[in-house]
Amino acid sequence: MAGHRPTPESEPMSVSIDLAGHNRPTPEKAPERQSLLGLSRDSLAERLRGIGVPEKQLRMRAGQLWHWLYVRGVDDFSAMANISKDLRTALADNFEIARPEIVEEQISVDGTRKWLFRFPARGAGRPVEIETVYIPEEGRGTLCVSSQVGCTLTCTFCHTGTQRLVRNLTEGEIVGQILTARERLGDLPEADTPMGAIVPSDGRLVSNIVMMGMGEPLYNFDNVKQALAVASDGDGLALSRRRITLSTSGVVPMIGRTGEEMGVMLAISLHAVRDDLRDVLVPINKKYPLDELLAACRAYPGLSNARRITFEYVMLKGVNDSLADARELVRLLRGIPAKINLIPFNPWPGTDYECSDWDQIERFADLVNDAGYASPIRTPRGRDIFAACGQLKSESERMKKADRLALAAAVAG
Ligand code: SF4
Repeated sequence: MAGHRPTPESEPMSVSIDLAGHNRPTPEKAPERQSLLGLSRDSLAERLRGIGVPEKQLRMRAGQLWHWLYVRGVDDFSAMANISKDLRTALADNFEIARPEIVEEQISVDGTRKWLFRFPARGAGRPVEIETVYIPEEGRGTLCVSSQVGCTLTCTFCHTGTQRLVRNLTEGEIVGQILTARERLGDLPEADTPMGAIVPSDGRLVSNIVMMGMGEPLYNFDNVKQALAVASDGDGLALSRRRITLSTSGVVPMIGRTGEEMGVMLAISLHAVRDDLRDVLVPINKKYPLDELLAACRAYPGLSNARRITFEYVMLKGVNDSLADARELVRLLRGIPAKINLIPFNPWPGTDYECSDWDQIERFADLVNDAGYASPIRTPRGRDIFAACGQLKSESERMKKADRLALAAAVAG
């Protein structure tokens, strides 16, 4: 689910680093070796069996691999010192553990970082690019992770919705975003920070994950589930499931399974309180209208005042921001332990929508607050970088590398 991060116009204050060519190269057609990233320990053991590792060593070797990947954070088999040279060679011949190529890294003056990551081609496809964003806040650091390249849905306020779906990301590509972001932030405790990485000086690292980047995560359920199982494994990335939030546009049949099988926090991209308007803003509403969506929310496994559902509501001037809308929102959510995130709309080139006036956003927030719901207004972050989801990818497609280098030099100088 993208389209949540508000970010108005550019200001020439950020640092933009074009890392293409200074990074792990991604040939147009790399030979396809299976990635071990994102696999469970059992699946790792299965792969090891496939290359002839003796049965009695499988568990131990899978545990070693896991430790190197997620505790030590290595991305090269040759660094796995306690694994024999022969096995390391066999692993490198058959598998890969490469992370995405970093095409571009932008660092806002407010500490928000945005990466454009490139993954190699799969099958007959082409290499793909997706975005991952890091948002430091008081007491926590949130990584916004993508689940698909583009999106099949066409939410009209969302920039990613203008990009056609290319493919689902694999579990390894989802985990790869987390590993690479942590590496660039100097947040892999036992790994050396790579040359050229810019490490936050105030020590705010990745404490939370939101599946709120490009794509609808519940249309890529199995891969997202497996990636989040790796991210929340206590031996490794070790993110609490209560600090992982999955945001959906409202794929009603998968909402119950999300609670049961992933056990993560839920966010709903709501944005409208009437079916006729939501049919336009979030067209999946035509398939799963508001009453079905809210019934699924009421039944969400583990729902309580300590585990509330977040409802995302983008503030669109003259569209969904009246006080009647606010009252209807309160009525609709009655009985659901909920928090409402009000998001000032971040216009992107070509959109017809405008952000609501600030006074109106505050009046809306006050009404919802008075009804007993926390309704923080999301502070716009990363204003000086292209942080509305999907924008960096589009810009990258439009700008030639030389232009990007010129831009990077201009903002750096
Ligand atoms: S479901 Fe797709 S189109 Fe809708 S907000 Fe999310 S990324 Fe954008």
